Amino acid sequence: MKIADVIVTPVAIRDAPLRNAVGLHEPYVNRIVVELVGEEGFSGFGEASFSSSTFDDLMALRPHIIGLDPLNLNAILKVVDGRLGFPNPSNFDPVFRNFDLTPRLTNHFLTRTYGPIEVAALDLSGQAMGAPVSELLGGRVRDAVPFSAYLFYKHAGGGGEGDDTCQDTYGEAMTPESIVAQARQMIDIYGFKSIKLKGGVFPPDVEIATIRALRDALGPHVPLRIDPNCAWTVDTSLEVGTQLAATLEYFEDPTPGIEGMSAVRKGLQERGIDMPLATNMCVTSFDDIPESIARNAVQVILGDHHYWGGLRSVVELGRICSTFGLGLSMHSNSHLGISLMAMTHLAAAIPALTYDADTHYPWLHEEDEVIMGGKIQFVDGSVLVPEAPGLGIEIDREALQRGNERFQRCSYRDRDDVAYMRRTVDPNWEKLLPRW
Ligand SMILES: [Mg+2]
Repeated sequence: MKIADVIVTPVAIRDAPLRNAVGLHEPYVNRIVVELVGEEGFSGFGEASFSSSTFDDLMALRPHIIGLDPLNLNAILKVVDGRLGFPNPSNFDPVFRNFDLTPRLTNHFLTRTYGPIEVAALDLSGQAMGAPVSELLGGRVRDAVPFSAYLFYKHAGGGGEGDDTCQDTYGEAMTPESIVAQARQMIDIYGFKSIKLKGGVFPPDVEIATIRALRDALGPHVPLRIDPNCAWTVDTSLEVGTQLAATLEYFEDPTPGIEGMSAVRKGLQERGIDMPLATNMCVTSFDDIPESIARNAVQVILGDHHYWGGLRSVVELGRICSTFGLGLSMHSNSHLGISLMAMTHLAAAIPALTYDADTHYPWLHEEDEVIMGGKIQFVDGSVLVPEAPGLGIEIDREALQRGNERFQRCSYRDRDDVAYMRRTVDPNWEKLLPRW
């Protein structure tokens, strides 16, 4: 089996004005869809966060991937590594790229580009062999993958601009009460059993009140998480952690860096609080794990196949987490159904993944999905693991083309939440991590 062609398609999807620690989501978020065309007529698909550099890298790699065997992932990785295997800090998560993580970035350039290629290769191989991707990853250990609701403080608006503006499904949510309403609405639609709140937006007192309002409204059986994306100092994190000790399932990235997280962990333990700290910001590659273990900085790692180097790497991460007694959960950015299915097959194949995975999927508009049949259905907060070959999805090529046309039309390219916040909410806005 050989890869006959590689097609790289950037698409824009409409995104609601969601707030986070660094600013505000723009009206469009871009993704890159990678298609590997097999000689036998099958096509495999993968999806990546858009950045200009990732797009350029994929285009540059294209001729070197053609002709390789999609089953020989090590050969593909070697090609990517040989061409991209040098540090490039600008390729880190664009939202936080100016954040001081430079010494740890060695592998991100490679992993961000390799990830979507590997997903597409496994989708293609699975279709050719008649096997679901979860089987190619070692076999499913669960038939359904539970996801968590992902709540955001948000301004009114559904995303898009001008004639392309779309309906505001969830409405404005800038108070604890309206976040509770958003949670109820999302649970009604998807059946989620656990809740994540994106924090770092309002002073900590407001966010503590929001978590308490969620607890009061939903009851103690619904696990809650808050992720302020490093908006808090160590002292503030200790204060919030103490106040929410009995309420949170885990406490995600309250403060920057392994050293900071280690100080929060130690401080909470000294207060008799054994609440796990989780991260997708200070442990973002295998290189970060030894120091994190040595300092006891985090107890839950949020894996993400887009950033950790593909699906197989996150399976390996699961084994490492088990070895060191760490929990494994799953991080998400805004994404389409291709990535949701990749995450589902991955989560199905990792015994160690015992937390409900994050997903931005509820924020995706039905019309912007690029797979046949529209958005993937959830059953009681879970996605059923497909038994069909590959990822188990079929691409709607007209919808993919519409997404690409939207990308060509819209003026947004590399994500910049800080600039959009300045332009539309506060001209004096500065990115400050930590802010409080
Ligand atoms: Mg996070």
